[in-house]
Amino acid sequence: MERTFLECGEKLRGRADQKFCSPQCRSSYNNRENREEAAYFRQVNKILKKNRDILIRLSEGKPTKVKRIKLYENGFRFDFVTHKERNPDGTTTFFCYDRGFEELDEDYVSISAAKKDLL
Ligand SMILES: [Zn+2]
Repeated sequence: MERTFLECGEKLRGRADQKFCSPQCRSSYNNRENREEAAYFRQVNKILKKNRDILIRLSEGKPTKVKRIKLYENGFRFDFVTHKERNPDGTTTFFCYDRGFEELDEDYVSISAAKKDLL
């Protein structure tokens, strides 16, 4: 198979390990990689932020027991959390930044108050 430069697809001429034909080619490749990475972080962050907003909205900022379905209806993504904390009673609180929730049973979750001193 013919080997080509990573960015522009030009045929490889130089050293065997050379990936780019020019500094311009290297930097346009790196810029695009960085852009894609930044876009990915933005996407994940958006989901986490939306999760946090939902937790605040459904609890009005106070500890509250709510139906799990309520969170789903608002677009909550249970698979997107920032971290988790083991409670003394053996339960786990999952966090989206400073807002947490605990799964009580199949139908209910409990939303906890804001917590800022985690890290
Ligand atoms: Zn090139």
